[in-house]
Amino acid sequence: MNQTKIDALRAHPVSAFSHLIEGKHVLRSDGGTMDITSPIDGQVLTQVARGTAADMEVAIASARTAFEDRRWAGQSPAARKKVLLKWADLIEANALELAVLGVRDNGTEIGMAIKAEPGSAAGTIRYYAEALDKIYGEIAPTSSDILGMIHKEPVGVVGAIIPWNFPLMIGAWKLAPALAMGNSVVLKPAETASLSLMRMADLALEAGLPPGVLNAITGEGAVVGEAMGLSMDVDVLAFTGSGRTGRRLMEYSARSNMKRVYLELGGKSPNIIFADAPNLDEAAKVAAGAIFRNAGQVCVAASRLLVQSSIHDEFVAAITKAAEAMKVGDPLDLTTAIGAVNSETQLKQNLGFVETATREGGKIVTGGDRILQDTGGYYMAPTIVTDVTKNATLAQEEVFGPVLGVTPFIDDDDAVRIANSTVYGLAGAVWTSNLSRAHRMVRDVRTGVMHVNTYGGADGTVPLGGVGQSGNGSDKSLHAIEKYINLKTAWIKL
Ligand code: NAD
Repeated sequence: MNQTKIDALRAHPVSAFSHLIEGKHVLRSDGGTMDITSPIDGQVLTQVARGTAADMEVAIASARTAFEDRRWAGQSPAARKKVLLKWADLIEANALELAVLGVRDNGTEIGMAIKAEPGSAAGTIRYYAEALDKIYGEIAPTSSDILGMIHKEPVGVVGAIIPWNFPLMIGAWKLAPALAMGNSVVLKPAETASLSLMRMADLALEAGLPPGVLNAITGEGAVVGEAMGLSMDVDVLAFTGSGRTGRRLMEYSARSNMKRVYLELGGKSPNIIFADAPNLDEAAKVAAGAIFRNAGQVCVAASRLLVQSSIHDEFVAAITKAAEAMKVGDPLDLTTAIGAVNSETQLKQNLGFVETATREGGKIVTGGDRILQDTGGYYMAPTIVTDVTKNATLAQEEVFGPVLGVTPFIDDDDAVRIANSTVYGLAGAVWTSNLSRAHRMVRDVRTGVMHVNTYGGADGTVPLGGVGQSGNGSDKSLHAIEKYINLKTAWIKL
């Protein structure tokens, strides 16, 4: 990584983005354009097409035709693999450009963005490209006069709706398995993080993906996202975002063609620190990173810190020191540890949560404010609030910002009770040197991913999915493929 190259890229003006339909850029829809504001300085960066429901319908119709004429699904697995591998290579070859463009759009610190965005997206696409010719159908155990075959077929048209925190990484989690299995995809990036994802979609075409197999429409969720949700011609919706929107998608599905809806939603993930943690200083540093990186805008962010009472004050002091050592600022500076909050709306929401927390008895030990206001950008100091009770708003509702609530616990049962006291169940961690306790916590904490003596970093070989109101279905690993296939039985009398 090279600061000079990053600075050169950030100086480039960004041209306006258009939809991608049938392999062509559709410059301006009837809805006109919308301004994209950079969270780095609050200035307008460029424009994207403001999609209409009609734009979405054209994109879906094109994807449907591409699926029906088998221009992609009909290619040999080897041919599809070649295209996807080339796509991954192109993403890697353009990694810095993609990362800088994405950061100018969404504010993630560049050090993290390079790894988590183009780096992870290329890895995910390679993983499913390599998997696609190793997925076999099945022969059922039948009597000798019958042949029972189970085919794994693509579902048809997949609608992928992506949030703004990690557009390339999360985009690839949906696009790669869906395309690998022969589906067509219509992509709907988030309003405040569409640029790098639109560019990544272009690269798929450059790699040889036939026109129409991947179409992408920018615009407002309530307009183009709704049109996708209500379409009679989308077979599966793959979504990451808020529970509020997830609920809507289920309604859209029920009101239209009962399409399958897979939801990756929010969390309120508990990070449970026992007094017998192997190294409390290390745990404090990791715990600070687990909530404050990307300004807390991470679905698995460890936003609830549960600390055993006997070490509460010592641990709070250690994590406060770790948080205060994290430099907040220009996300395109390689020395920055915490970049910008994605939007002004999000920043106001974060500050509102802090106010509510103090009103409900929480004590701010560090942060709590907007900072660097003179830059025009949206920055917030990493914030730690202690004395957060189990039922306080900060313990129950997802902030999706750099705000950590600390709650003490007495023993294992108390920790599990508090950990399981929200509607969410996405991730969590336990820090202990007691092996039996570690396994018991993995078993008893209701969540999709549980870490032991670490946080984050789970790679593409393992699933990520929530329980409860954190969603259904999993991204990553071979399990994600199940979302993008239908099982078809052929029952043949011999
Ligand atoms: P959001 O739900 O507002 O938006 C997500 C996407 O949905 C955007 O593309 C948006 O345009 C679209 N959308 C909005 N309204 C829509 C509608 N009516 N119909 C169809 N589409 C619509 O969420 P967000 O604020 O962008 O993302 C933050 C949320 O995402 C947080 O709650 C976070 O926890 C969650 N998240 C979860 C994961 C995970 O893997 N579980 C990962 C990242 C983010």
